[in-house]
Amino acid sequence: MRISSLLARVVPVWVPLLVCGVAPASAAEPTFSADRVRAHVAFLADDLLEGRDTGSRGHEIAARYVANQFAGFGLKPGGENGSWYQRITFQQTNRGGDPGAITIGGDGAEQRYPHGGDVLIGLNGREPKQDVAAALVFVGYGIENARFKLDDYRGLDVKGKIVVVLRGFPKGLPSEEGAHLGAVKAEVAEKHGAIGMLAIGTLLSEKTRPWKMTLQYAGDPDFSWVGTDGVVFSEAPGIRAAGLLHGPAAEAVFAGSGHTLAEVRKEADKHLGVPRGFALKTRARIQIESTSERVTSPNVVAILPGSDPKLAAQYVVLSAHLDHLGIKHVANDDKADDDHIYNGALDNAAGVATLLEVARAAAAAPDKPRRSIVFLASTGEEKGLLGADYYARHPTVPIGQIAGNVDLDMPLLLYPFSDVIAFGANHSTFGKLVADAVAPMKLTLSPDPMPEQGVFTRSDHYMFVKQGVPAVFFVTGYANGGEKAWNEFFSKAYHSPKDDMSQKIDWDAGARFVEANYRVTRAMADSDSPPEWIEGDFFGDTFAPKAARAPRQ
Ligand SMILES: [Zn+2]
Repeated sequence: MRISSLLARVVPVWVPLLVCGVAPASAAEPTFSADRVRAHVAFLADDLLEGRDTGSRGHEIAARYVANQFAGFGLKPGGENGSWYQRITFQQTNRGGDPGAITIGGDGAEQRYPHGGDVLIGLNGREPKQDVAAALVFVGYGIENARFKLDDYRGLDVKGKIVVVLRGFPKGLPSEEGAHLGAVKAEVAEKHGAIGMLAIGTLLSEKTRPWKMTLQYAGDPDFSWVGTDGVVFSEAPGIRAAGLLHGPAAEAVFAGSGHTLAEVRKEADKHLGVPRGFALKTRARIQIESTSERVTSPNVVAILPGSDPKLAAQYVVLSAHLDHLGIKHVANDDKADDDHIYNGALDNAAGVATLLEVARAAAAAPDKPRRSIVFLASTGEEKGLLGADYYARHPTVPIGQIAGNVDLDMPLLLYPFSDVIAFGANHSTFGKLVADAVAPMKLTLSPDPMPEQGVFTRSDHYMFVKQGVPAVFFVTGYANGGEKAWNEFFSKAYHSPKDDMSQKIDWDAGARFVEANYRVTRAMADSDSPPEWIEGDFFGDTFAPKAARAPRQ
């Protein structure tokens, strides 16, 4: 089940870059056009495409547009059965008429908490009538990791039981590693034999994600991809039910245990505080009903074959998500003439435009790239990175031959950027590769300005990381007006109908962003050795334990 949709809402990503044209180093080098970037964005963000929702006609039209551009550049189809597409089946699981409830209690006394009050229940696309009841065991943060000496299940028997976990990860853990460990709790619980998971907030998470905000998602459906066997994909199918507890519901699970929620939260609030787990005296019954429907939607994939006979069997992937949020549900207080279309001009028509123009330049370059390049316009990103996840698990080229991935998401083309950020750069040789590649443009690579956000684990490229592939996700930096532009975009236009062509988009910045990405893509395709994980890096060691390593600088 997709506990993540409730426990840790995936925040999609972005990237910006800009500047005016630098004279090409030689007459043979490609040029980058602001007009062409604008033309792609104008088409993809047009109202006629109705927000390019996954599974919608608007997204299908966008996919056809991208495939036809690829064809025009002379690329090869890289999808399934010789086509440009990798068509994916998705299941949307909707809440039924009865919202469901979690009943918590011990000897004699029990209390029923309906969904949307002090509890939220996740949907399980595999079980339309969920009814899971079992004894509860508190397991602290529910994390297991030898490197950080975390062993929250030590001495606890959770077989056939429902675990109660704290949200997040211990204070003081590095944010990206912590975000990863926080995201795999259901898998850890499943491994120990648990059948359900209930999460409670820490003092920190209650502050950063107030319950009121979390409740906004109470009516959301679940969206998951369906495997070729027809079964809805789940990372932890053994965890049959999951939910979030708040206030009195969170306190209730500790009744009779000799411990209290306040005591556990206080311990968790300390630096590297790790509350120990213990068996609880209470039980929970999680009940919810759902209906479901299935749609299909394609990833669009093209390949530019490499020119070097020794390296052509290796692939580098440039990706950007083509889907967006569709049409806004009309609310009572909306005026009839309100804009309801999520055009997604910057999120992520601009990223796809960049991908297309990099593809054009790479295909036309007189000196052909040495490694093969996969251009991937993914679907389902806004639903939880689903198209990229599907591609990384069902790649149309062998996963062992994918050498690296650069993802483009939401380039903020609103200011003349003078620095770039590559989330994840410090985990692999991508850091140096990117810095060297953009240096001729007088761009610098800045460190992650928002490490607390754990952005590295929050966009499409992370799905490649999970399959062992070094990857980065680019954004324009905070310098030269960037910080203000980012803050304004997030507060006013991000994931709203305002992210459309009426914004003051700096198309010269768009052309410059294309050039930067072209340079990075070429560096990735042409360097003698492919990107490598840094020796001792957590993500490399976790996902690619046998891959070659580069020494830490
Ligand atoms: Zn988005």
